[in-house]
Amino acid sequence: MSGFLSEKALAHPLVSKALSALRQVPGAADRIAAEVLSEGTREIWRRQGSQTPKELQYTQAKGHICLRRLLGKRCSYNSHQEPPCQPPGSDHPSLWNQAGKPVCFVFQPYSLSGENLAALTDLCRKHNLTMSISGQASWHFPGRTILVELMRNSPKEASPVVPQKPTLTLVELE
Ligand SMILES: [Zn+2]
Repeated sequence: MSGFLSEKALAHPLVSKALSALRQVPGAADRIAAEVLSEGTREIWRRQGSQTPKELQYTQAKGHICLRRLLGKRCSYNSHQEPPCQPPGSDHPSLWNQAGKPVCFVFQPYSLSGENLAALTDLCRKHNLTMSISGQASWHFPGRTILVELMRNSPKEASPVVPQKPTLTLVELE
């Protein structure tokens, strides 16, 4: 027992069935959990909480996933542009719109070096972006990656809602 589940949850027949099934495949347990959690975690993040009006929820931008699009700059698809298409440390990137315009660049690395973190901080300062890093909001292999958000600063918009990971409740199981 590591204290992740309450005694009541542990006593639930579906929970104990799931636990014993997962214990038979310990090497795959985190992948199975990720498979279960990934889509829901992304939806919670995309909707920015249950109370957020539809026009403020994120929709995934189509086409080239590019930091320059977030900044309203043209992209010539070459690696010498400043800033580049991808921020330092980028892995599993995606670009998100609000009201049809890119407002948030997301990437989900397994780790981030101090060097990349310093470069990201510089980038945000230079281009007036807000960075937010979360271990519980990542939907690319939840539990293994972190979610890094680079958001355009807009004084008119409210601060972003901290997304919550979907939780397993007994109400849902009954
Ligand atoms: Zn680009």
